[in-house]
Amino acid sequence: NDVDSIAKCIQLGAQDYLPKPLNGTILLAKVISSLEKKFFRERERELVNELHIQATTDQLTGIFNRRVVFESLEKAYKELQEKKIEDFSVLTLDIDFFKKINDTYGHSGGDEVLKTFAKTLEDYITEPNIVGRIGGEEFLALLFDKDIKDTKAYCEKLRERIKKNIVEYQENKIMITVSGGIAQTTESRNASDLVNKADERLYEAKKSGRDRIV
Ligand code: GH3
Ligand code: MG
Ligand code: MG
Repeated sequence: NDVDSIAKCIQLGAQDYLPKPLNGTILLAKVISSLEKKFFRERERELVNELHIQATTDQLTGIFNRRVVFESLEKAYKELQEKKIEDFSVLTLDIDFFKKINDTYGHSGGDEVLKTFAKTLEDYITEPNIVGRIGGEEFLALLFDKDIKDTKAYCEKLRERIKKNIVEYQENKIMITVSGGIAQTTESRNASDLVNKADERLYEAKKSGRDRIV
């Protein structure tokens, strides 16, 4: 019951103290209350982690959601303007004739295609690049990697990979193609301008026959 030692113990991280001689009932009550606090602390940490995962992932595919991609884009654009990072590119992707896939194999067949598609994107587009699902069958990637010397060639390789990657669903083998648009920060004024440019090119890719990157 030396006040200074008690204060020192608490400063060092002790949660509680008991003066000697110990009383069994008080000791037990304090142990229980400490364990309870520990339980709730851990549960709170788990819930915060779960919330974070829910807030950042797309439920169907498990890759990043729209929010993460657009927040990362805004942040990156700001860092670019502050000269903290170098120029980068965005790639917008949209699966070709996806409605037909739903019509032929049902909504769950379509979902299976989306999951496989997202997995292919995630395997190919690795850090520091970011890829996420921004809508139904629409995806957006931020390409920061300086080692990608030729962005177009990098995206073409992805398009080829998607074309070759057959999705097995029940007894069916489903083939898909994708169209995409690329835009670079060197040709844009702000983040939304950048995405609009990529979207315009995606639209051109669709118009000129699909299964291509513009
Ligand atoms: P285009 O080549 O021009 O892109 O044609 P499309 O059929 O892919 O174009 P559209 O954007 O009109 O169709 C997208 C469809 O995706 C419409 C919608 O029913 C479907 N869809 C959106 N979200 C989901 C989803 O989570 N699961 C499934 N299975 N389908 C979805
Ligand atoms: Mg679409
Ligand atoms: Mg589509």
